[in-house]
Amino acid sequence: MSEPILRKALPDYRWQGVDLRAYKDEASAPFRSVTRQVLASAPDLKGELRYFEVAPGGWTTLERHAHVHAVTILRGAGRALVGHEVVEIGPLDLVTVPAWAWHQFRAGADQPLGFLCMVDATRDRPQLPSAEERAELEAVPDIALFLAGS
Ligand code: MN
Repeated sequence: MSEPILRKALPDYRWQGVDLRAYKDEASAPFRSVTRQVLASAPDLKGELRYFEVAPGGWTTLERHAHVHAVTILRGAGRALVGHEVVEIGPLDLVTVPAWAWHQFRAGADQPLGFLCMVDATRDRPQLPSAEERAELEAVPDIALFLAGS
């Protein structure tokens, strides 16, 4: 079955023929209020384009892995932790997540955060921080504030 040439945009950051899915298996890792849509994953593409949406106050899993992410913010605003940097993010900002950098995306308290994420189609499984690794991150005051409540 070939991909359709066009998938029209629908209201509220949905697309024709694209399922709204759970972010990841509920039990596999901690996160709050995140949905996932796979926008492109043709076998010849060697990559996947996904749209994630974090509801107000929600956050993605704090994780790291060998594969990299290229992220484009589409909707709302929030903050991201990448490596040891906490950055403010808003529409059309670009975020690069290098290999093995700890990362998490958090929506603002009063608005969602929606972003495109390009990723390798064949990728390694994310790692979660050990208690020691989390403590090391939280030794940085800005990061401790960022992670508070997750
Ligand atoms: Mn990741």
